[in-house]
Amino acid sequence: LAIPNFAGFCDDLNKIFLETKKQNPGNLANYIPELGTVDPEYFGMSLCTVDGQAFSAGDSRIDFTLQSTMLPIVYCLACEQVGYDRVHEFIGKEPSGSTYNAFVLNSENKPHNPMINTGGIICCSILEPQDNQSNRFGNLFDFVSSMAGDSKITFHQRTYLSEKEHGDRNAALAYYMRGAEVKGLDGKRLPEVLDFYFQACSIACNTEDLSVIAATLAKGGICPLTNKRVLQTSTVRNCLSLLYSCGMYDYSGQWAFTIGLPAKSGVSGNIMVIIPNVMGLALYSPKVDKRGNSVRGIEFCKRLISQFSLSIFDNL
Ligand code: GLN
Repeated sequence: LAIPNFAGFCDDLNKIFLETKKQNPGNLANYIPELGTVDPEYFGMSLCTVDGQAFSAGDSRIDFTLQSTMLPIVYCLACEQVGYDRVHEFIGKEPSGSTYNAFVLNSENKPHNPMINTGGIICCSILEPQDNQSNRFGNLFDFVSSMAGDSKITFHQRTYLSEKEHGDRNAALAYYMRGAEVKGLDGKRLPEVLDFYFQACSIACNTEDLSVIAATLAKGGICPLTNKRVLQTSTVRNCLSLLYSCGMYDYSGQWAFTIGLPAKSGVSGNIMVIIPNVMGLALYSPKVDKRGNSVRGIEFCKRLISQFSLSIFDNL
């Protein structure tokens, strides 16, 4: 078993969950107005082990849009379609040290990494450029679903429209990159690429589904619920390396130091955490800090790590 005494472990996690729930600082990310309308008290937690054991607490069946947590998924798909080397001809492998939506490129005129908006927009440009928009979206949607154990994930039309209507910043980032002649961005299709990026960000699921997605990564690309291989191990390895150094925006270094696990957050207040060969963990609490990370999500992980030796460096 990935976790011996699973029931005892879940009891402890439930206690950590209830402790973390008591406080709720931070703010809703209302720069996407629709994200400002959700109940700020939502708090859900789910885990799924690599051998398929599952546990949830709180609002684990409430859907939220994945937002930036889609970026590692889009990155994996891009790597499988065109190859890892090709993707990194266009995108770096270094944390940017800046906010996720900063106007900044590295010294090679590339986005710093695929886990921030600029890198995400480039990945969206790489995916199936010859195909039509409905197939491109459909393939991504089906892929997310297969990572989540063929579960019924959804698409949140209101958030998509809200982000699109208030998408000046991301549009500006895309035009900035086109102006800078960033390679990999298909300039002729810029509005379409941007639209696809907004669509990807509005794919939605609950923490139960997200924990399965994280567990699929923890299992090297095999979904623990269906036992189907959905990604090559090498793709997952590369993705997890990047999530370890770049998954939490400009908190990534501190996260790696204190938590010591690959993770990705989205500005809707979700975080997925990957414990390689053990389990995937998902958290949802919509109030985020100034960097865009779920406050309770981070707090839960800090408490978890102080109690259990789960960091990748804990078994030295
Ligand atoms: N859709 C959001 C945006 O592009 C995603 C950002 C995030 O989750 N940090 O602004």
